[in-house]
Amino acid sequence: MHREKLIMVCTCEIAGRVRGKGFPAVELASRARKGVGWVPTNTMISAFSPIYSTPFGTGGDLILVPDMTTETAVDFADGSAAEHFFLGDIRHLDGAPWSCCPRDFARRALEALQEAAGVTLNSAFEHEFTYTGVTDMPGNPYSLDAFRRQGIFAEAFMAALRTAGCEPDSFMAEYGPRQFEFTCGPAHGLRSADRAVVAREMARATAHRLGERAIFSPILDPNGVGNGVHIHFSFLDAAGAPVLHDAAAPFGISKLGRHFVAGILHHLPALCAVTAPSTVSYIRLRPNRWAPTHANLMTQDRAAALRVCPVLPGPDVARQFNVEYRVADAAASPYLALGAMVWAGVDGIKRGLEPPIEGKPLPASLGEALDALEANSAAVDWFGGEYLNAYLMHKRGELAALDGLSEAAQCEKYAQTY
Ligand code: GLU
Ligand code: MG
Repeated sequence: MHREKLIMVCTCEIAGRVRGKGFPAVELASRARKGVGWVPTNTMISAFSPIYSTPFGTGGDLILVPDMTTETAVDFADGSAAEHFFLGDIRHLDGAPWSCCPRDFARRALEALQEAAGVTLNSAFEHEFTYTGVTDMPGNPYSLDAFRRQGIFAEAFMAALRTAGCEPDSFMAEYGPRQFEFTCGPAHGLRSADRAVVAREMARATAHRLGERAIFSPILDPNGVGNGVHIHFSFLDAAGAPVLHDAAAPFGISKLGRHFVAGILHHLPALCAVTAPSTVSYIRLRPNRWAPTHANLMTQDRAAALRVCPVLPGPDVARQFNVEYRVADAAASPYLALGAMVWAGVDGIKRGLEPPIEGKPLPASLGEALDALEANSAAVDWFGGEYLNAYLMHKRGELAALDGLSEAAQCEKYAQTY
C-alpha cells in the first residue's frame, strides 16, 4: 500500500489524555506557524470521553501550535506507522496564549519561580504502571523472573525513550501484580513535563505494538497497591549550580528550598485536586500502600508526601540532592501537576512559610480535594478565574459520572482510560 507520513500536534489537558490533530508531514513548515484548529470546549472532554458540562459552549476558535523543540519521531521498525508528534501550546488566533493552556500554566509557574527566587527547576518524573503482557506469579515483586517475562517490551520501550530524547534511567518490576516502573533523567523547566507526556506515550505505543497495554491508572484493584507518579526536584541558580541543598540545615534543605517545600505542604489539600485528580487516586492514598496519607516531609521515608531522597557521599552531594513529590499520579496532566506544585512552592517562598511540625491528613476523596482547591484563595492567582472554573467544572462532572459505582467499578473505568 502507498502511504503518506503524518504528524500530530498534541496537548495534555485536564483529563491527562494526550489529544491533538494530525496533518501530512509535508505541511510541517506551514503548520509550525499556524498550528491546527482547536476549540475551548476540548479541555472539557472527560477522561471517559463525554463532555459532562462546559463553560465555553460550542463557540470559539483557538490554535494548537507545535513547539518545534518537542519533536518526537520514533519508528518501531515493525511496519507500523511511526510515532511522530509535537507537543504544543493552545493559543488565540492572534498567537496570544489561551488562559486555559495547560503548558502555559506550567510555564507561568516556572517563570514565577524564576522571578521570586532566580532559580530554574530541575526535575524528573518516575512512573509506575501495569503491563498487561505478563501473568502475575506469586513472589514476583522486583524479581528477575518478572523482568524476564515481560519479554521484549522493556528493551523496545527503552529504545523508544532513547530515540524520543527522554534519557531512560531505569526499568524494574515493581511490587504490585504486573506492575513495572521506569525513570527518565532530569530535565530543566518545562522540558521535564514534556518528557513525562512523551514517556507515558512511548510506554503505551510500545505495548500497543505488542498487542498489550501499559496502564497508568492510579490503582487497578481497590485492595492492591497504586501506580504513583513521583516528581523529583531540585533548583539550579543562574550559573547552573545546585541550590536546594544545605548540609547544615534541617533535612539538608536550603532556606529557599525550605520555604518552597513549606508552600507545597501548606497548599497540599488543594494541590491534591490537580496532582491526584481521579476518584481512585484517593484509594491509592491510603495507609500501607507506600503512598502518602499526610501533608508531611520526611527523610528517606516512602510514606511521606515529600521525601528527601538519599545521596551517596562524595563531592557532588549537592548535585544529587533532591526532594520527591509523591502525591501525583498519571491521571494528572504533567503540565498541571508540575505547574501546581511549583505555584504552591513559589507562594511558600514569597510568604516565607515554614514546614509544619506535624502534617495534616490529605483529603480522603476527590470531592474533598476539589472543595479545598475552590476554597484556596491563592489558586485563582495560579490558574486565573476562567481556568479554575473550567477545572472545577470538568472534575465535578467526572465525579458525578462515577456516583454510585463501587470502588472496583471505578478502578475498572479508570483502567480503561489511563
Ligand atoms: N506504588 C507506590 C505509590 O503508589 C510507590 C512505591 C515506591 O515507593 O516506589 O506511590
Ligand atoms: Mg516505585
